[in-house]
Amino acid sequence: MNERHISKRVILAGGGHAHLAVLHRWAREPARGEDRLLITPQAHALYSGMVPGWMAGIYPAEALRIDLAELAARAGAKLVPAEVTGLDAARQCLTLSTGELLDFDLLSLATGGGIDLAPFAGSTATILPVRPVEGLISGWEAFLAAAPRQPAIPVIGGGAAGVELALAAQARLAGAATVTLVCPRGDFLSGHHLRVRRLARAALNRRGIALLHGLAAGAPGGLVLDDGELLPADLVLLATGSRPPGWLAASGLACSAQGFALVGADLRSVSHPAVFAAGDIVERTDRPLPRSGVHAVKAGPVLAANLAAALHGGTMQSYQPGLRTLYLMSTADRRAIASWGGFALAGRAVWWLKDRIDRGFVRRQGRLG
Ligand SMILES: Cc1cc2nc3c(=O)[nH]c(=O)nc-3n(C[C@H](O)[C@H](O)[C@H](O)COP(=O)(O)OP(=O)(O)OC[C@H]3O[C@@H](n4cnc5c(N)ncnc54)[C@H](O)[C@@H]3O)c2cc1C
Repeated sequence: MNERHISKRVILAGGGHAHLAVLHRWAREPARGEDRLLITPQAHALYSGMVPGWMAGIYPAEALRIDLAELAARAGAKLVPAEVTGLDAARQCLTLSTGELLDFDLLSLATGGGIDLAPFAGSTATILPVRPVEGLISGWEAFLAAAPRQPAIPVIGGGAAGVELALAAQARLAGAATVTLVCPRGDFLSGHHLRVRRLARAALNRRGIALLHGLAAGAPGGLVLDDGELLPADLVLLATGSRPPGWLAASGLACSAQGFALVGADLRSVSHPAVFAAGDIVERTDRPLPRSGVHAVKAGPVLAANLAAALHGGTMQSYQPGLRTLYLMSTADRRAIASWGGFALAGRAVWWLKDRIDRGFVRRQGRLG
């Protein structure tokens, strides 16, 4: 596959949220001589915004699926069913899980982030990271099929995903579980206004979910917190935030101290003009931006435009969202919490809006089945 090619080869690595807009643009604009490739281990992507609704039993798993194979076909892109396992930025070459080497003229990375499992290695409980979402879905279904009576389920991570999944797990098990939410003090919805945190605390209280402060690690029987408290667990849900893939560190691309790809507002690597990246895998050099699906999705059209400009000439655009971003968090009871700067609102109308936005988004991508 690595024979010399004459036309330019453009590779999208990963079917992340940020690449959906690129595939849509490609579908509208046929290739002008370039070869288009999408490397993805799965023929579908899963829309993360609907994962808590799925876990709560509100949506079937199919409702979250975005058919990447169909999108790629419409975009005139060859789908390569593999994972990226290595990148040599200087040689402009990718290594795939199949052992193939693939060189590129232009590369865009949207492979998302992973979860650090190392602190939980000593636990005898089932450890279920929320990423990759495919693993969360199969792992949760397997747990439900053989769940003990009244299982203990600590959810680690006080971000929106941790809060939503704790509520969803409790709702799905209809109270027949002891769900706790664990995060270091000060980390509970730390990017959100106090009003949002109060609404989320009230939702947790209504479901009988205790919020524990501490740094959790794996231990026989479950978990141990940094103050020595033991937390029994059957299943531990890890929503501890994205960490970059290991292969990025060895790629030669400029990375942050944590190993995220450093990009400017144009989503281009600060160290390599032929590499772009968006979504959870990046860190911006011009301003901090939280890693969220909202930003991954909204960066997509800018990424698409800049890939076109890098290939055919044109002006680079900047992804510069406003200071406030609307987040809608499901409380697993067909209600949701809206968070927009200092504005906070909870209730059925917010769920109605979230459900409409999320299902509309997936439908627009072209759903499977
Ligand atoms: C449970 C949950 C709920 C969330 N809810 C929200 C929400 O309501 N709102 C919000 O803004 N954000 C939410 N997020 C965060 C959001 O999911 C991420 O910020 C967003 O998905 C990041 O998009 P991305 O493009 O970086 O990659 P992703 O959407 O994570 O996709 C990465 C893709 O790349 C593939 N991939 C991974 N590794 C490789 C590889 N080596 N080679 C090739 N392909 C690879 C994966 O299979 C996946 O398809 C949630 C996250 C979780 C876990």
